[in-house]
Amino acid sequence: MSLNDSIQYVPGVGPKRAELLKKHLNIFTIQDLLYYFPYKYIDRSKFYLINELNSELPIVQIKGKIIDYKILGEKKTKRLIATFADATGTIELIWFNSFEWIQKNYPPFTELVVLGKPNEFNHNLYITHPEIEFWETFQNSLIQTLQPQYTIPEKLKKHGISNKVFNKIIQTVIKQYLSYVKETLPDIVIQRNKLSSLTNALVNIHFPENNQKKEEAIYRLKFEELFYIQLQILYLKYYRKHNISGFLITKDKDKLVKLLYKQLPFKLTQAQIKVLSDIRHDFASGKQMNRLLQGDVGSGKTVVALLAMLMAVDNGYQAALMAPTEILAQQHYQTLCELCKNLPLNIELLTGSTKTSQRKHIHKGLVNGTINILIGTHALIEDKVCFANLGFVVIDEQHRFGVAQRAKLWQKNTNEPHVLVMTATPIPRTLAMTIYGDLDVSVIDELPPGRKPIKTIHLDDSKRLKLFQFLHSQIQKGRQIYVVFPIIKESETLVSLKDLEDGYESYSREFPPPKYVIAVVHGQMKPQEKDFSMQLFASGKAHILIATTVIEVGVNVPNASVMVIESAERFGLSQLHQLRGRVGRGSEQSYCILMTKNQLSKEANMRIQTLCESNDGFYIAEKDLELRGPGDLEGTQQSGMPFDLKIARYSGDEHILIRAKNEAEFILQQSPDLNQYPILQHTLKKLKNEKIDWSKIS
Ligand code: ADP
Ligand code: MG
Repeated sequence: MSLNDSIQYVPGVGPKRAELLKKHLNIFTIQDLLYYFPYKYIDRSKFYLINELNSELPIVQIKGKIIDYKILGEKKTKRLIATFADATGTIELIWFNSFEWIQKNYPPFTELVVLGKPNEFNHNLYITHPEIEFWETFQNSLIQTLQPQYTIPEKLKKHGISNKVFNKIIQTVIKQYLSYVKETLPDIVIQRNKLSSLTNALVNIHFPENNQKKEEAIYRLKFEELFYIQLQILYLKYYRKHNISGFLITKDKDKLVKLLYKQLPFKLTQAQIKVLSDIRHDFASGKQMNRLLQGDVGSGKTVVALLAMLMAVDNGYQAALMAPTEILAQQHYQTLCELCKNLPLNIELLTGSTKTSQRKHIHKGLVNGTINILIGTHALIEDKVCFANLGFVVIDEQHRFGVAQRAKLWQKNTNEPHVLVMTATPIPRTLAMTIYGDLDVSVIDELPPGRKPIKTIHLDDSKRLKLFQFLHSQIQKGRQIYVVFPIIKESETLVSLKDLEDGYESYSREFPPPKYVIAVVHGQMKPQEKDFSMQLFASGKAHILIATTVIEVGVNVPNASVMVIESAERFGLSQLHQLRGRVGRGSEQSYCILMTKNQLSKEANMRIQTLCESNDGFYIAEKDLELRGPGDLEGTQQSGMPFDLKIARYSGDEHILIRAKNEAEFILQQSPDLNQYPILQHTLKKLKNEKIDWSKIS
């Protein structure tokens, strides 16, 4: 016997139920079953007296006897009603099916325990489809205090797998297999963190003896889950730190860096300076840098990236900057060329739409080292692209680049280049520790001076006239306007562009040519077309840019001071924040106007309100996590949730996560290869084969 046994042979399961459990709950083995945890518990140590009951109470437990049965009603309303009594009174129990089975199984005047939610009709209390247990069985079962409630899909319930049946199955499994459970944490970790043993935790998570034991079990299992996540991430990080040397990039070689400082049109903020010194430190350490740069939209990450790239170039290396979209790559190219004009420096742009002849030319320049900085999209990691000596790679708006893609970069060199990952999507600390746990972190927590906070306003569709008046006045002042329409991502088909097309028509009527110019960009346009539209807007020739979320990341047009988001209720919080970040980049007062339909759901309303009351990306990210709740992170793929958590939560378990992280660090400091801890090596290996999808980490 082992925990890898199939569940099929567990008494009470069998082939048919095993199939259902596999299909709907992903439960294949005993181990899976043991790790399918309850989502809540009902206190079964407490018995109510029938005369204490009322319909306000949640699920209650009573003890007594059925004294009679009767069948009432016709067809759909046909029901079996039992009168259930204890010493203090009676209540009705009602069923709509299985009449015979129930009457046969629970004959009158047997002592029963009944569990259910009391309801009231015509001053009569009743419970429909109660859970029933013989008093005798109840006394002998593990469940005498807190009864676990499992999430059981309707499909399973229909096939007889009720919560009660599930409880029974788990009870059987625990009795039969508990002795086969092997501890997964080393003694030292258990002692240092005062954890209960795995066997204890598994028993008490399913059938807690009391509240305290339940809490201890939950803590232990959450800790274990988070600990192993951190261990995997940090193991990787330690491995790199110890085994991979980095190109040496030092300050005494500065040349271009100094020239750039001289011609920068602004002074760097303190935060930017701090980040640069972090990078300097890494560059000179002899180790490979793997650093995350977090900074809210508009905080000035690009210039930091540029200065760092120049450090690399000054030291004789090539540098590359990767962007997630063609538009963004294009923009970076222009920005960097503008900032670097007059510098003896060769910057090239390589994207999907670069012409073949130009592409060849670039390939050659990269190999013979005449190109210093390459800016591009995914095209940059195509196999053909080879560098003479790539020393440093910047990945902008990184959530679109998976680790797998990052890994491809390393193959371009014998040595791994330094890596700076930049993201504007502020994410809560817990998430950051998980998603970017293998990276060192720098933060830009300060915006360049002189920025006026963006004013965010919520209008519903009935105020459209007011919106248009406002836009007219802004255009008159020389400002430009973004208008964004939602598109359902998976099906970016012509049909889903309908909103945008209708919107375009309505805006064109209000702002007719030739007096007004409206540009359009969306994901289905050819790169050249997109580019044309963006140019029209960026150069100030178009007054309005109508777009889908393709403009979400990175685009920088300082004169655009109004962002109108249509059907804002259909966007997620962080997406709204990203979009809003496209304005507020110049010195003018900027506005973000959230247009929604009249009636909003509670959640949508909360999102809109949150955005109206705060400009702080980190606050918004926390709120986002809170609003969405665990396991329900919208845009999951986008922001990269690499780990499916079984019991811990990204929101709310931060204190355990921090502990788990510290512990993983402690262990790795003692034994970077984990040779001292065979248990950990073993479990890590197992986890690696199992479930982490590294490509999802991004
Ligand atoms: P993001 O961090 O969102 O990528 P950018 O790098 O695009 O932000 O910078 C936003 C704008 O702020 C750009 O127009 C840039 O030139 C400007 N900027 C960056 N740093 C400073 C600074 N220290 N002082 C003034 N303006 C700055
Ligand atoms: Mg940027």
